[in-house]
Order: sequence, then C-alpha cells, then structure tokens
Amino acid sequence: MTRDKVLFHVCPQCGNVMVSWSKCEVECCKERLEVQDPVEPKPDCRLDIEQAEDELLVTSTLPQTKEDHVSFVALVQDDRWEIVRLYPEWDVNVYLKKRGRGKAMLYFFRTGNRRLFRQQI
Ligand SMILES: [Zn+2]
Repeated sequence: MTRDKVLFHVCPQCGNVMVSWSKCEVECCKERLEVQDPVEPKPDCRLDIEQAEDELLVTSTLPQTKEDHVSFVALVQDDRWEIVRLYPEWDVNVYLKKRGRGKAMLYFFRTGNRRLFRQQI
C-alpha cells in the first residue's frame, strides 16, 4: 500500500473535516483531533465509480440516513485534493474532475462507524 498523500482529521462533535499535506496539530470543538487511519472498504460498502475522460461520477446505493451516511468524498492526487460535502438524505452523486498529477485515490467518510475509507480508482 502506498503512503497516503494527505492526512484527514474529522471532528467527532461537529463533523468538521480538515486535510493537511503533513502531520500537524488540529483542534476542533475544544478537542485535539487524531489523524484518521483509512481502511479499504469491504465490497458491500464500496462506492460506485464511473470514469469518463477526466471526470469521475461517484455514486452509492446505500441509504444516506442520519445515523449512517457518507459525509464527504475526496479525490486526492499528487498535487491537489477536492472534497465534496454530503448530508443525510442527500444521494451520493458526485462529479469529480481528475486534472492533477499522479494517481488518483478516492477517500470517503462514513458517520455510522466513523471510518475513513480509501478506495482505489
Ligand atoms: Zn468540531
């Protein structure tokens, strides 16, 4: 597994997400946040990715409930990242543009188990 190019911090209180290129101290809602350790999604919780030219369409058929939903998806490349915020009841239906350097990696966060997932594109 290649090293992650960026680090994600997610606040357990308010859901705020912060991304950094390197290790740093992050605080939100008066709490120090730890770096999220991404895991590979199991087949039943992977997002569906369709590629067309330099665009990716990211979708999911899993319900977006208040208790468990994808709260953001992020496309990370060598020189950039793009994050799209999502909310309960919002379908996962996100277009992301691949336009930077290097291999792209998709990250997403599920609120139910508070897990950051890293999915190969
Ligand atoms: Zn917070």
